[in-house]
Amino acid sequence: MGKRILVLAEEKDGKLRNVSLEALTLAKQLSDGGEVQAVLFSEQAAAFQAQIGQHGAGLLFQIAGEAWKSYTPDAYAGALVQLIEQVQPDVILAGHTAIGKDVAPRVAARLQIGLISDCTGVDVQGGELVFTRPIYAGKAFQKKVFREGTVFATLRANNFAVAEGGGAAKIVPFEPTVPDLRTIVREVVRKTAGTVDLSEAKIIISGGRGVKSAEGFRPLEELAAVLGGAVGASRGACDAGYCDYSLQIGQTGKVVTPDLYIACGISGAIQHLAGMSNAKVIVAINKDPEAPIFQVADYGIVGDLFEVVPLLTEECRKALQ
Ligand code: FAD
Repeated sequence: MGKRILVLAEEKDGKLRNVSLEALTLAKQLSDGGEVQAVLFSEQAAAFQAQIGQHGAGLLFQIAGEAWKSYTPDAYAGALVQLIEQVQPDVILAGHTAIGKDVAPRVAARLQIGLISDCTGVDVQGGELVFTRPIYAGKAFQKKVFREGTVFATLRANNFAVAEGGGAAKIVPFEPTVPDLRTIVREVVRKTAGTVDLSEAKIIISGGRGVKSAEGFRPLEELAAVLGGAVGASRGACDAGYCDYSLQIGQTGKVVTPDLYIACGISGAIQHLAGMSNAKVIVAINKDPEAPIFQVADYGIVGDLFEVVPLLTEECRKALQ
C-alpha cells in the first residue's frame, strides 16, 4: 500500500534549498504510488508551487503569518505538530539543516513518533523503509527500521538524487493556532553575504593551520571563485583566528558532502575527517608526505599550498574559459 509522505521544504534567499528538492524526490520514490505533500513556511508559496510539484508533491501546505516569518522552535514545532495531527503522514522528511535538526526532535517528542536524524540513505526492503545514518563520527553506519507509527527523518544534504517529473502542486493554506512563543526574532543580521552555502556546496576548498594567516586564505578564495565553490576550514584555522567559526568543518563544525573537497594545509585529524570524509572526491595539498589526510585522499599533492593553489587556480581558469 502506498505511503503518505510529508516534506518540510525550506526556502533560503528566495530559493528552495537543494536538500528540500532531494527530500521531495526521495518522498516520491518511497511513497510507492501514495501521496507526497509538502509544507512551506513562506509568504510566497505560489513562487515555489511549480518547482515543488515538479519534484513530486501534489499538495503544498502554506503556513504564512507574522509568527512564522523567522524560524523559532516554538512557532515551527507548534505549527508542524498541528499539521501532522491533521494530515497523519506515515513519514515526514526534512533536510538535516539548522532548522531541520532543531525542529524534528521537538516534533517527534511531542507527538511520540519515531525520529532518525542525519540519514545518508533510505531503502525499501520487503516493504519496509530502512534508514541509514553514520555513527561514531562517520566510522560506522547504523541501519534502522521503524515497524510502527510515523517516523520523522532528517536527510544529510547532497546524498540523494534530485529528479523532476510532476505538475504544479496545489496550494492549501494552513492556519495553525499560534503557540506560546518564548522567543521572538526582532532582526536577522547576516554575517556573510553572497557566498555559496557550505552545507550544500558541490565544491569546497578548505584551509587549515597551514594557511598561516587570514591573508593566507586569499588563494583559496580565488580558487573557490573560479570553481564556483565555497571556502571551508579546519578548527585549527578557526582557533588560530584565520577565519570565522561558521566555516569550520568537522565533528563540532559542519558536516559536508560535496562532489569535490580540496584540503589545503590540513593535517587530517579524526575530528576533521568526521565532517568531510564522505565527500565524493578528496584532494589533499600538504607539505608533509606523512600527513594523515593523505590516507583518505583520492589525490594527494605533496607541496607548499602557496605554490600549488595558485597554479591550480590558473589551470582551472584556463580549462573553464
Ligand atoms: P594542524 O594539525 O596543525 O595541521 C596543519 C597542516 O598544515 C600540517 O599537516 C602541515 O604539514 C600543513 N602545512 C603547513 N604549512 C603548509 C604549507 N605551506 N603548505 C601545505 N601544507 C602545509 N578539528 C576540525 O577541523 N573540525 C572539528 O570539528 C573539530 N572538532 C574537534 C572536537 C574535539 C572534541 C577536539 C578535541 C578536537 C576537534 N578538532 C576539530 C581539532 C582537531 O583535533 C585538530 O586539532 C584540527 O583539525 C587541526 O587543524 P589543522 O589540520 O588545520 O592543523
